Amino acid sequence: MEEALAHPDACLQAVHEPRYLAFLASAWDEWLATGNEGDAFPSVWAIRGMRSDVIPDNFAARLGLFSFDTGTPLTAGTWAAARAGADRPLSAAAWIASGERSVFALTRPPGHHAGPSFFGGYCFLNNAAIAAQALRDRGAARVAILDVDFHHGNGTQEIFYRRNDVLFASIHGDPRTEYPFFLGYADEQGEGPGAGFNLNLPLPAKAAVADWFTALETALARINGFAPEALVVSLGVDAFAGDPISKFLLQTVDYQRLGERLAKMGLPCLFVLEGGYAVAEMGANVAAVLEGFEG
Ligand SMILES: [Zn+2]
Repeated sequence: MEEALAHPDACLQAVHEPRYLAFLASAWDEWLATGNEGDAFPSVWAIRGMRSDVIPDNFAARLGLFSFDTGTPLTAGTWAAARAGADRPLSAAAWIASGERSVFALTRPPGHHAGPSFFGGYCFLNNAAIAAQALRDRGAARVAILDVDFHHGNGTQEIFYRRNDVLFASIHGDPRTEYPFFLGYADEQGEGPGAGFNLNLPLPAKAAVADWFTALETALARINGFAPEALVVSLGVDAFAGDPISKFLLQTVDYQRLGERLAKMGLPCLFVLEGGYAVAEMGANVAAVLEGFEG
C-alpha cells in the first residue's frame, strides 16, 4: 500500500474542460453563499437545441450545465474528495511508467460516467481517463482502457471518442434498459481520427456468465490488435450476481478468472475502482481480480 502523491491541476485539464473544473472547485461555497442548505441537486439542463457555450451567472443554471442526472448531488467535501481521489490514478500512472507491472488505484468517488465537462452517475472526475492520459504523457504511445463495470462508461468514451491513441472497450448492460441509457450502443465506434477505436459490447440483463466472458475475449482481441503499451481497467464490480442495482451474474470466482485472463495479456495494468453496490462482497470481488492477476 502506497500513499498517493499530489499532482497539479494540469493533469486534470488534459481530459476535463477548465471551465468545468473551476465550477466544481467553487460550487459548494457558491451554493452555501446563495443561502441554500443541504445537498445541491440540479434541476434544469441545457437539453438539445439549447446553448451550452454560454456559462450563465445563475448557480442553478450552471449546476445543470455541468451535470446530466439528479443522482449525483454536490455536498460538503465533494470537490476535496474527487480532487484528492484523482491523485490516486495519477500516482498509479507514475508507478506504471517507472516499471511496475500492476497498480490498483483505490479511489472514491468513481469516475467513468464523468465527461469532459459534466458530472453524473456518482462521478465527478474521470479517474480512468486521467490515468490513461497520464500514461500517454509519460511516454506510452498507445493506451487501451477496458471497462468491466456493469454500466457503460459514457464519460470515458466521450473523452477519447475522436482519438486513435487511446482505445476504449466496454462490456456493459444494454443501454436500451440500463443506465446511462443515452450512450453505449454497439454502433458507436469512434469519430474522425478515432473511428474504429471505440468498442461497445452491450449484453442483455441476466446474460449468461459464458456470454460475458465471450464478450471479454472480443474486447481483449481488439486490444491485442491495437498493441497498447499499457492497459487501464475500469474495475467496477457491479457485474456481480449479488449487486442490488445491476443485472449481470458474475460470481466471485469469475472475478478471479478475469484477473487471471488479464494477466495473460502481458501488459502493464492499471486498475481503477469504479462501481459496486453489493457492499459486503465488494472487497472480496476486487481482491479476487487482483489475486487472479498476481497468481
Ligand atoms: Zn456501475
